[in-house]
Amino acid sequence: MVAAPTFVLSVLAFVLGSAFGSFLNVVIDRIPARQSIIRPGSLCPACGTPLRPLDLIPVVSYLWLRGKCRYCQAPIPLRLFVVELATGLAFLGVYLRFGVNPALLMLASLAGALIVLGIARIARRG
Ligand SMILES: [Zn+2]
Repeated sequence: MVAAPTFVLSVLAFVLGSAFGSFLNVVIDRIPARQSIIRPGSLCPACGTPLRPLDLIPVVSYLWLRGKCRYCQAPIPLRLFVVELATGLAFLGVYLRFGVNPALLMLASLAGALIVLGIARIARRG
């Protein structure tokens, strides 16, 4: 028996998913370039300015900054926003379908892996 989804847990699932999506963006950008996924912290790829916590809120920061760097106004790749949004929605979907159970983390991670593979496939096509 799956308990009825609650609004708070639905929001939490989306927030956790979009944060995981933000991490996936780091993985997508740095692993093929053989860079650390830990250091340095996030920088603007155009001007190199270290990004502050307010610049790094998944989904929200992209919308708030209208897709541009706060410091140099260079466009932020739409892919970063799409991966955060898609992963947030995937986690939300897994929660709404299966509720809170031990398989949740596994299914949510699988969704994240599929998003990374999808992006890598799209990127390879150019
Ligand atoms: Zn910049």
